[in-house]
Amino acid sequence: MSKILAFNWKTNPTSQKESIELFNSYKDNFDKIVNWNKIVFPPFVYLSKIVELANNENIKAFIGSQDISQYESGAHTSQISAKMIKDLGCDYALIGHSETRSELLTTSFDTAYKIKICLENNLKPILCVGFEPKLDNENIDFEELTNQIITAISSNETALSKLETFIIAYEPTWAIGTGKIPTLAQIESVSDFIISTIHDHFGADLSHKTSVLYGGSVNDSNISELTKSDKIAGFLIGGASLIPDKVQKIVEKLLDL
Ligand code: PEP
Repeated sequence: MSKILAFNWKTNPTSQKESIELFNSYKDNFDKIVNWNKIVFPPFVYLSKIVELANNENIKAFIGSQDISQYESGAHTSQISAKMIKDLGCDYALIGHSETRSELLTTSFDTAYKIKICLENNLKPILCVGFEPKLDNENIDFEELTNQIITAISSNETALSKLETFIIAYEPTWAIGTGKIPTLAQIESVSDFIISTIHDHFGADLSHKTSVLYGGSVNDSNISELTKSDKIAGFLIGGASLIPDKVQKIVEKLLDL
C-alpha cells in the first residue's frame, strides 16, 4: 500500500491568494513522490478553490476537510456537512483532531457520529487519536487512547471494514506544534497498541485494514528517521506543510529513502 503524506493547514493561510500560492508550490514536489498518497486539508473556505486547482493544474493530491458536522443537513447553524464536503469534490475528512477536541469540545462519541456520516457520504475518515489533556510529557495514556479508539469505531466497524484502508493518525498532544517528538520506539509501540486494540475489539479484518500515521512536529529534520519504521504508514504534518521550502526538503528526504 502507498504511504500517506497528509498536510493539515489548520487556520492558515489567512487569504485565498496565499492558499492558492501554497497549494501551487506543492506541484513539482508532489509529482516526484509518486508512490506516496498526498492529502491536503485546507480550511473549509478554500476547499472549493483548492479542489479546482488540483483538477485544473493536475496537482496530484487528494483534498479533505479538517472536520465535519455530525449532522447531514438542517438546523445546525455554522456546521458544514459531509454531504457538502463530498459535493465539493473532497475525498477525506479529519475526525477528532486534538484541537477540535480541546477547542470545539468534540467528544469521542461525536467522532463516532462523524465517522458514520463520512462513510454514508463516501468520505474517508482519518481518525485522530492521542488527545492526552492530562499529560505534558511523553508518557502515553493507554486508557485514554483505548477509549478514543473503541468509542469512535463502535457501531461503525462493519462500514469501516468495507474501506480499502482505515487510517488512524496518532498525534500526542504534547508533540503538536512544540518541536518535540516521541522516540521511534514509542511511536511503534503505540502503532502496535492501536492495531492490537482494534484486533481485540473489532476483529482481524478491520485490524489488517488499519494504517497508523504519526503526527506532531514532523519536519525535514526528523522525517528520515521516522520513515525507517514499517509500523508508521505515513505522516500528518501541520506547521511544516505551510512552508514551501520545508515541504521541498521533506520530499527530498523521502526521495532519498
Ligand atoms: C497537527 O496538528 O496535525 C500537526 C501534526 O501539527 P504540527 O506538525 O504543527 O505539530
